[in-house]
Amino acid sequence: MAKILSGKEVSARIKEELKQEVAALKEKGIFPGLAVVIVGDDPASRVYVNSKKKACEDLGIYSEEYALSAETTQEELLSLIDTLNHKKEINGILVQLPLPKHLDEESVIQAIDPKKDVDAFHPVNVGKIMVGNYDFVPCTPAGVMELIHESGIEVSGKECVVIGRSNIVGKPQAMLLLHENGTVTICHSRTKDLKETVKRADIVVAAVGKPNFITGDMIKEGAVVIDVGINRIAPKTLVGDVDFESASKVAGAITPVPGGVGPMTIAMLMKNTVKAALIQ
Ligand code: NAD
Repeated sequence: MAKILSGKEVSARIKEELKQEVAALKEKGIFPGLAVVIVGDDPASRVYVNSKKKACEDLGIYSEEYALSAETTQEELLSLIDTLNHKKEINGILVQLPLPKHLDEESVIQAIDPKKDVDAFHPVNVGKIMVGNYDFVPCTPAGVMELIHESGIEVSGKECVVIGRSNIVGKPQAMLLLHENGTVTICHSRTKDLKETVKRADIVVAAVGKPNFITGDMIKEGAVVIDVGINRIAPKTLVGDVDFESASKVAGAITPVPGGVGPMTIAMLMKNTVKAALIQ
């Protein structure tokens, strides 16, 4: 049976450290602040925003929430971002994605001051990740790296297979593994021989968005399996992209869903917010 990589436990440790760091910063007159912007009433987005606000409260980070109606125009949203870019109490700006269809996500992301872009989605920050000299790491891939380190596995020289090539998870994940000298393969919807490719991996990161898609027969004995997927298959049932039941019998270490990558993502957002305050 695989070792369980509990993001819940690791993130609690990270948040405890950050809490102390925030307290020490406040004594020096530095008060980290995060603005969270949500447009419309997507229930999943609401849950994520609430968890982010709660994490700020727990850590003593100042936060502001801007809950805008689904009818918000592009101009209104850009104007809010401009205000937040100039607001000195705010060090980090997070616009919860996805935005309603009539809004242009790309230009909204580009409007955020890169120094306040705690999600690291702005092209300036994406470019910095590419060259390996960055301040902010996108929260989910950063959380995955922390969990890999926790499992005690060296990435250097290892076969790493990332399934999914989104800008938010798959691509930056591949870059972070590459920076640690992994031999990285990215699989996606057009990949042939997915099973054979995944089976080679010492480290598998699944970010597909398909419930229980990666099964135990695709996993090499002893591999580290990180499941980024969050799929709601019933009102109260979340499952990952990895079929935990079969994969955990073969893997050396595996993340559960929930309680794996999810809580790590929020801890990394808090880390980026503290970093933003320090940089500014
Ligand atoms: P996305 O839809 O943008 O990307 C999915 C990727 O999967 C695509 O690149 C696509 O090429 C690939 N794919 C689709 N079908 C495939 C197939 N048959 N074989 C191989 N690859 C295939 O999704 P995303 O934003 O990257 O998110 C992926 C999953 O991670 C979702 O379940 C999402 O909810 C979850 N997620 C979790 C966190 C977290 O904090 N844990 C954060 C972000 C996303």
